[in-house]
Amino acid sequence: MKSVVYPGSFDPPTNGHLDIIKRASQLTDKLIVAVLNNQAKMPMFSLEEKMEMLKELTKSIENVEVYSFDGLLVDFCEKVNSNVVIRGLRALTDFEYEFQIALTNRTLNKNIETLFMATTTENLWLSSSVVKEIAMLNGEYSGMVPLFVKNKIEEKISKKRGV
Ligand code: ADP
Repeated sequence: MKSVVYPGSFDPPTNGHLDIIKRASQLTDKLIVAVLNNQAKMPMFSLEEKMEMLKELTKSIENVEVYSFDGLLVDFCEKVNSNVVIRGLRALTDFEYEFQIALTNRTLNKNIETLFMATTTENLWLSSSVVKEIAMLNGEYSGMVPLFVKNKIEEKISKKRGV
């Protein structure tokens, strides 16, 4: 495959996202990580912060590029000249949501194909929201995100608490 788009909120990027990025980058000439600009979701990190973190985390993988997008994913795919989208699948709970989005994107643009990559056993229950919740409650989440991301989360929380 010439290029593949991996879209998401990445608020923040977790080991689950990174695992998909690493494995997907081996299947394509170019993997485009596309960060959705969605302020309505009240993100912990700004678009710029998320892009910066993803760039840092993927700097050793040569064929990964980090972009942002707003609007329709299918329009972004056309813009970057890619017709393959990859999404990670965790437990069955992801399935219905992902299936619905994949079919909707197909309806919007029949040239766009969505591929699903199964997560690993370690990352099965891992999500950005779980990480944020544990962090806010002072729990231990070292195995869930890279240390670099953990430090950014701690910084955010300290600022929020005015420490
Ligand atoms: P969204 O808000 O669009 O679901 P996310 O940033 O949460 O965006 O996720 C982006 C993609 O990464 C989705 O396909 C999601 O299923 C996948 N993903 C998230 N966490 C994991 C994980 N632990 N293992 C595998 N895939 C994951």
